[in-house]
Amino acid sequence: MCYAIPAKVVSIQDNFCILDYFGEERKALLDIENVEVGDYIYAQGGISVRKIPHQEAAAVLATWQDIFFELKKTDSLLSKVDQEKLPANALAVLQKINLRQQINKQEMLSLLTLNTANELKVLYELANNIRQREHGNASCVHGILEFSNYCGQSCWYCGIRQEREIKRYRLTPEQIIAAAQSAVDTYGFKALVLQSGEDYWYDINKLTAIVQSIRAMGVLVFLSIGMRSIDTYQKLFTAGARAALLRFETSNQKIFHRLKPGVDFTERLELIKNLKKIGYIVATGFMLGLPEESAEDLVNNIALTQYLDPDMYSFGPLIPTTNTPLANQKKTHKDDVLKAIAVARLANPKANILVTTALETLDHNTKQEALLAGANSLMINITPTEYRDLYEIYEGKNKNLEIGSSIKNTTNLLYTLGRAPTDIGLL
Ligand code: SAH
Repeated sequence: MCYAIPAKVVSIQDNFCILDYFGEERKALLDIENVEVGDYIYAQGGISVRKIPHQEAAAVLATWQDIFFELKKTDSLLSKVDQEKLPANALAVLQKINLRQQINKQEMLSLLTLNTANELKVLYELANNIRQREHGNASCVHGILEFSNYCGQSCWYCGIRQEREIKRYRLTPEQIIAAAQSAVDTYGFKALVLQSGEDYWYDINKLTAIVQSIRAMGVLVFLSIGMRSIDTYQKLFTAGARAALLRFETSNQKIFHRLKPGVDFTERLELIKNLKKIGYIVATGFMLGLPEESAEDLVNNIALTQYLDPDMYSFGPLIPTTNTPLANQKKTHKDDVLKAIAVARLANPKANILVTTALETLDHNTKQEALLAGANSLMINITPTEYRDLYEIYEGKNKNLEIGSSIKNTTNLLYTLGRAPTDIGLL
């Protein structure tokens, strides 16, 4: 079982290499030593993470050889758009995108007002078509390990906010490393997201040790630990972390300051920008359906994500959770999230757009619908099952599906849609 197809290095220039996947080329940052043209490596999110022996690569490639071209065919078939059926406003947008022109906020707003089943179908098809044009059938699957639900913050939406009375847990560095090792050895993950509340029990020494050990397993270490100092993030980059997820949550500063008491919007934004400057692959985005949010706020959220120019877009619906100040907030409709994914894709054709677990929580089929509406990346929960229920940032999140079954479901889904885990590459 593996979540990355081995790539052959076809050329090297400075810090970058060009990789070949069955005739498709992608660019990646060279982050491992002693790589030469002709070598085989695994890359994740445009970063090379591990060199592998030729024999091992040949064996894995042989298992992919036959299905790879089948998958591409399926994906091409599924990403066709019948232009004849397009409503006039969608056609105008398509023409702009085909000319590689940027769509403006007004156009985004008008796409977000599409509502009939037929209009939505066309919108999603259009977004899927652009996803295919930019990324081919490449998809990306990361494992996520939720290692602590202790949190020093009081975010109104969040089920692990410090005021909420829940059973707290914290994995020791040894437990985290063991869980990561099992995800890598047993299940073949090549990228691991380490997520937690803002838990300062993990000081820089503990975090450094964790990052170093996991990086040494030959995988991409992806942090989602909230706001830490630039110095901490710099040290963790040096220790081997290469990606970070930090959402700005909402572009509306008034809403932000109400829902994240004690946190400064500008400071969070600056941190996101600095992560990029340090060299991290950055994932950022927002929540949909916060109280008092307007359609303009949603467009501004997409525009702010675009402005921050992240490597990965991560946004999902707010899931109202009991015993939080937003417990009674209306649930976001699935189509509103799918529309946002589609519009984000059309506004930024090259984006990597993640299907978030909150979206999956809305109903069981949304993963597939999101992948057909412009999204191209997924995450699989690898948190040990005894802790999974406790990491309840929102209700209904944890289905306690054992890792092997989640992987099977995800691979089946990707195959059905004709997607292959060739690396999504650098833009
Ligand atoms: N504590 C870290 C990371 C963990 S939370 C941080 O703050 O960055 C990860 C994301 O979950 C948050 O950024 C937020 O957007 C989302 N989230 C939190 N509560 C949620 C809820 N009730 N519904 C949907 N998403 C939620």
